Amino acid sequence: MKNLAEIAVNKCKILGAEYADIRIVEMKDEELRVKNGKISDVTNAVSLGYGIRVIVDGAWGFAASSVMNTKDIEKTAELAVRIGKASSMKINKKVKLSKEKPYIDRWNSPYMIDPFKVGMDEKLGLLFEIDEILRKDKKIKNAESYMWFNREHQWFLSSEGSFIEQELLRSGGGFSVTSSDGNTFQKRSYPASFGQYVQGGYEVIYGLKLIEGAEKTREEAIELLTAENCPSGKKDLIIVGEQLALQIHESVGHATELDRVLGLEANYAGRSFVNIEKKGNFKYGSDIVNIVADPTAPTGLGTYGYDDDGVRAHRFHVIKNGIFENFLGNREFAHEQIENFSRACNRAEGWINIPIVRMPNLSLMPGSYKYEDLIKDTEDGIIVSTVKSWSIDQYRYNFQFGMEIAWLIENGKITKTVKNPTYQGITPEFWGSCDAICNEDYWKFWGVPNCGKGQPGQRAEMSHGCAPARFRKIEVGIV
Ligand SMILES: [Zn+2]
Repeated sequence: MKNLAEIAVNKCKILGAEYADIRIVEMKDEELRVKNGKISDVTNAVSLGYGIRVIVDGAWGFAASSVMNTKDIEKTAELAVRIGKASSMKINKKVKLSKEKPYIDRWNSPYMIDPFKVGMDEKLGLLFEIDEILRKDKKIKNAESYMWFNREHQWFLSSEGSFIEQELLRSGGGFSVTSSDGNTFQKRSYPASFGQYVQGGYEVIYGLKLIEGAEKTREEAIELLTAENCPSGKKDLIIVGEQLALQIHESVGHATELDRVLGLEANYAGRSFVNIEKKGNFKYGSDIVNIVADPTAPTGLGTYGYDDDGVRAHRFHVIKNGIFENFLGNREFAHEQIENFSRACNRAEGWINIPIVRMPNLSLMPGSYKYEDLIKDTEDGIIVSTVKSWSIDQYRYNFQFGMEIAWLIENGKITKTVKNPTYQGITPEFWGSCDAICNEDYWKFWGVPNCGKGQPGQRAEMSHGCAPARFRKIEVGIV
């Protein structure tokens, strides 16, 4: 692979590129689904190709191909340079990359059991076993269980002397059930709305305790059919599990991506209320809110040794003691937030896409509360879990979430289950109302395997770590 990569980068330099890199990427995906007693999907996809990125006369050029030979790699390099030259006639501002150290390194995510070597019988057998437990009651009208495995092997070589090989392995799964009494429907999912995914091998599946969670999930879906609706009005809101992860993702992660802030990314609710002037002084949340970007944290879906600019991953605060500190950035935009180094957040999906600013693992740091004490300490509250619907405006400012389930807290005790809960807020007010966070015993990574961004659209993976947290006097209601 190194030889092919060198041929590409040398060709770009000969043709006049000021900077060139190539990423050769081999992707393997496997997805298995069982729905209502039948296999509904078995996907095995493999892809191998390369993307060549250049800067010519201050402008980006990019071209990709899946034909792995010298002739084609040179042709693709020529095309990337031609595109760069053409782009340079249209730009107002020349691309300026932050100065970074070149690396020669190899990095891989640790794992115990290669999921691609585990037999189909075992995987599908487990999904059928879950399916049977889920459909034991006639009120269950739909049951779906699934697993997903992804291996990404990449080689990065740049004209600055970097050669980095990385191998990332991601595994996970989950299930959901829909109950009905003939008139209404209710849904419950486990361990999270779209499953749970982490970096690791097939051992991840054992750790999810899918069989153990099936009966309780089914019973909750049935219980919701006769539950009262969630009350409306202002309540103290305790957010648990992956719902809080999604809250971090949508209202902090996307809002602090530097390309959106600069107005260069406007798709998928793509701008941001955060601007450059807010760095270092804007009150984003209460004093206990600490949100940290950490692509070095073990088991995260957004854990890597180096980003797709070849910059070494590192941990940094996005929000520190409630104050907004840093944007998620890359080499190109580092100077925009007045920094002379990159925050290592540039990533691409596969080999066919150009890297864009992507949040790595982004987590709310734990606080000091025990979960039982948090409940005891809440007079008029509601606990919400498992996202069902969400909407957020293009500035990542006003949002509303709907969840699968909620529980009322009255005078320090959980009193009943309620259905169709929603809550809404305005990002800085909402984070400003956070007055309690549970301690590290309750802290957990939740994987987002399918964050969409860009045009053409790209998928990226990341995790958000959090422990249950309380937000005071939040507007709640029903769907
Ligand atoms: Zn996203």
